[in-house]
Amino acid sequence: MNEKKSQNTNKKGRLIIISGPSGSGKTTICKQLVKNPKVNRSVSFTTREPRDSEKEGVDYCFVKKSEFEKLVEKGKFIEYADYCGSLYGTPIEPIKEAIHNGETFILAIDVRGALKIMEKIHEVTSIFIMTPDDNTLKQRLRKRLTDSEVEIRKRFKQAKEEMKYSKYYDYCVINDKLDDAVKEIEKILNL
Ligand code: ADP
Ligand code: 5GP
Repeated sequence: MNEKKSQNTNKKGRLIIISGPSGSGKTTICKQLVKNPKVNRSVSFTTREPRDSEKEGVDYCFVKKSEFEKLVEKGKFIEYADYCGSLYGTPIEPIKEAIHNGETFILAIDVRGALKIMEKIHEVTSIFIMTPDDNTLKQRLRKRLTDSEVEIRKRFKQAKEEMKYSKYYDYCVINDKLDDAVKEIEKILNL
């Protein structure tokens, strides 16, 4: 059994949604947050190609579109969305398990997926991550060196749309210095 899950308590777990434009730092921040043994994160399914640094089952479960569609039919996802031409879905079972096991469970998902979950589950804490400005976002998208220039442009355009949704979130955190952003979120979550 997962070490974090074995810390079962009678306390009900809680769901945390983290959204923000691609390149705002969601993945980097989540990696810091899950160092806390009480915190775990959801592993989404996606039809996008893995980046070099990504591991199957850790960063995502990478599947073909046909397999993703079968999972949709089987009702495996609490929500799913198309993001820049690839499908992404949040599996429902790990959420139920995490709540049962008293975990703080993070979903790092896009704004449409986040709104769907907020409609279904009311007791979530939602956090929107931003960069200090557009130039920083562009620089970070490029610095990641994982996407083509075409993909980076698509994501930057998408970022402009996503920013309009920040008002639906409980908190907005500016990811300027990484340590400060992580500390701010830990404070919000009482970790
Ligand atoms: P997202 O998951 O939101 O798409 P990432 O976590 O992949 O974003 O971050 C995008 C890039 O920016 C990565 O190369 C990451 O190392 C870098 N990065 C994240 N946060 C910071 C920060 N506070 N300062 C400088 N670089 C950062
Ligand atoms: P990336 O390709 O950069 O890993 O992710 C692209 C976008 O998809 C990000 O905004 C990320 O948060 C979002 N995403 C990742 N998993 C899911 C998911 O399961 N559902 C939804 N709706 N969005 C997701």
